[in-house]
Amino acid sequence: MGNFEGKLFVFSAPSGSGKTTIVRHLLNQEKFNLEFSISATSREPRGFEVNGEDYYFISLQEFKQYIKNDDFLEWEEVYRDNFYGTLKSEVERIWAKGKHVIFDIDVVGGLRIKKKFPEKTLAVFVKPPSVDELKIRLKKRKTESDEKINMRIAKASVELATAPQFDKIIKNYDLAIALKEAEELVGEFLELDS
Ligand code: 5GP
Repeated sequence: MGNFEGKLFVFSAPSGSGKTTIVRHLLNQEKFNLEFSISATSREPRGFEVNGEDYYFISLQEFKQYIKNDDFLEWEEVYRDNFYGTLKSEVERIWAKGKHVIFDIDVVGGLRIKKKFPEKTLAVFVKPPSVDELKIRLKKRKTESDEKINMRIAKASVELATAPQFDKIIKNYDLAIALKEAEELVGEFLELDS
């Protein structure tokens, strides 16, 4: 494993675009040797989320302490008082296992990681069919209040404008096609024979 060169795969998109489904699918492809970067967040767990699997759920106070200690590779107040960030130790942990890192993070954080590791990172933007469709998907999910959903929708329009700054864009109009495209992009970046 001496010459293992760890890569980073960033998948960013407005919430409800289907990026989490894409990321899960890629994680299931053994040939890619990927591991999910577990972010730290100050938001409350939703539904069946598990601490240390979906996120490291920490208090706002702890989060601010990590910021002070410069422990984050990137962090963001994605929604007011809801902080999210990637700990430097998380990437080190995964690379030390000889695996590549895959991120499911917001557009600002995604672009920051790309900037920090321009050669090692493939930054992919997942585009939803439309803002209206996003609204429908978020409502179907039934995990949040209308107010929270509206907050996510407002943010989505701003996020969509950042798409051209990513290395690649996947249009998630048809999930099966989007999954295939995602596989191709990762395979190419890892220089695997298809
Ligand atoms: P959710 O609350 O739906 O899990 O996530 C809200 C948003 O925060 C999503 O766009 C998600 O991708 C983003 N996010 C999750 N983890 C991180 C992180 O570590 N850093 C940043 N910048 N955004 C994150």
